Amino acid sequence: MAEEKSLNFIEEIVEEDLKSGKYKEIVTRFPPEPNGYLHMGHAKSICLNFGLTEKYGGYTNLRFDDTNPVKEDVEYVDSIKEDVQWLGFQWKNEYYASDYFEQLYNFAVSLIKKGLAYVDDSTAEEIASGKGTPTTPGTNSPYRDRTIEENLRLFQEMRDGKYKDGEKVLRAKIDMAAINMHMRDPLMYRIKHAHHHRTGDKWCIYPMYDFAHGQSDSIEDITHSVCTLEFVPHRELYDWFIKSLEIFPSHQYEFARLNMTYTMMSKRKLLQLVNDGVVDGWDDPRMPTISALRRRGFTPESIREFCNRIGVAKRDNLIDVGLLEFCAREHLNRITDRRMVVFDPIKVVITDFPEGKTEWMEGENNPEVETLTFRKIPFTREIYIEREDFMEDAPSKYFRMTPGKMVRLKSAYIVNCDSVEKDADGNITQVNCSLLPDSKSGGENANIKVKGTIHWVSIEHAKKAELRLYDRLFTEANLDDAPGEFKDYLNLHSLDIIPDAYIEPSLLDAKDDDHFQFIRKGYFVLDRKHSSSEKLVFNRTVTLKDSWAKELKKGE
Ligand code: ATP
Ligand code: MG
Repeated sequence: MAEEKSLNFIEEIVEEDLKSGKYKEIVTRFPPEPNGYLHMGHAKSICLNFGLTEKYGGYTNLRFDDTNPVKEDVEYVDSIKEDVQWLGFQWKNEYYASDYFEQLYNFAVSLIKKGLAYVDDSTAEEIASGKGTPTTPGTNSPYRDRTIEENLRLFQEMRDGKYKDGEKVLRAKIDMAAINMHMRDPLMYRIKHAHHHRTGDKWCIYPMYDFAHGQSDSIEDITHSVCTLEFVPHRELYDWFIKSLEIFPSHQYEFARLNMTYTMMSKRKLLQLVNDGVVDGWDDPRMPTISALRRRGFTPESIREFCNRIGVAKRDNLIDVGLLEFCAREHLNRITDRRMVVFDPIKVVITDFPEGKTEWMEGENNPEVETLTFRKIPFTREIYIEREDFMEDAPSKYFRMTPGKMVRLKSAYIVNCDSVEKDADGNITQVNCSLLPDSKSGGENANIKVKGTIHWVSIEHAKKAELRLYDRLFTEANLDDAPGEFKDYLNLHSLDIIPDAYIEPSLLDAKDDDHFQFIRKGYFVLDRKHSSSEKLVFNRTVTLKDSWAKELKKGE
């Protein structure tokens, strides 16, 4: 599936590090904060981190970056694990940054002892204004020169809960005139009397991201710590902590985050959509989350192929969501069984087919596989076809059903359209056709040239099912650059429900998450959440029409 590709820049670094003997094996990690469901951006990071150790050996850890007590939840932890595994990856160790709290505390104590950290009583505002600006240096805090003993005592008291939130912080003692603002005595610990989903009420001080992340990498012997570009300015501090603590030298490498057209990748904003009821949950099939894409019918293979195709960039860019849809079509075309489903029926009577007779047709399941298999499709005198596949007064180039012309019924006969019946108001109630004898596949007349082939279902055997057709959740391609708020661009017609479509009976055997191609209509999946034995619900993953393939051609 994947063509030979040149190495991405992180692979180049890894190959170099293995060749030079800098590392004997490489260790990566995927470090989500459990404060929401994973989205496509995370899929990109997962494919990169796990992809490296799949390719070069070594292993990848799953580390929950759960240093922020208030926003995190077990529900998110469970969904993250499910999503990573569903994508087809297995971590070696499941770790929690919160498991390192004691060790991180000891690291902080050792920095205090080296004279490299101090307790600051300044308010948040004082600290902010003391930081200076990118063009003017900051000013030293009046607490910067506390003795080591005093700092050790105060830090212990912070841990013991002697102070209220915000009363004190622990800061690294670096350089208030550093060009990099992150090096101007950054915060290491803050006081937060909050319950943590794993450590409970054991701690009332919590490490800041910069003091937790690199140290956690180092504790786990991570060789290549891959993150997104916004962390470039943090790298100097990442290195400073590791060097000052004299611990395992993990290194940070940054790549461009994935942005996709017509959607946004931010757990915070996606949570807003959930909380505001704009969507019916994190896994609403219109969301860019992995769980939503799964429900929508995207396959892990198609998501991995997408991540592979977009590569690993060093500069931010915007990827056309059409490429993801293209990857889905390509995979689904190869793996899905074909089925016939009529969305909006019109009745057709085959007047020369005996009443009460059922003829069982052989329908090819999937023409793309080497060993063809077939299903039985009942054919009877009365069938439904798609309303849009019939036209009474058709132009000469119309190749579907129209009086006086022949059309092929998929997997069945060629029929001639003879006449139309209408009610008093002139609405078409029925179309009458007659069979071309021996025109089934293999029959004498099967090869007669007929331009159109249409799908159908036997009225007697058809079952009803609900179809959900999705459109993009937003009307604007580049939400990041659009003026106003993302909510101004919600597409109010992103969900179209067809409550009673007619499905061929073999679809009654569909199981949760089974994928199909509904002939001429698109790829569908049985919705695991809303289907019941009384009512099957199918989500449309993508239509068959492929605008992306055309784009690719144009670019050639
Ligand atoms: P969000 O802003 O949506 O909360 P985040 O970066 O805060 O995203 P984390 O849970 O902290 O989410 O991220 C886990 C890993 O996934 C990090 O290494 C992060 O860099 C990576 N990641 C997050 N979003 C993207 C993205 N859009 N593209 C690529 N990688 C991403
Ligand atoms: Mg985050």
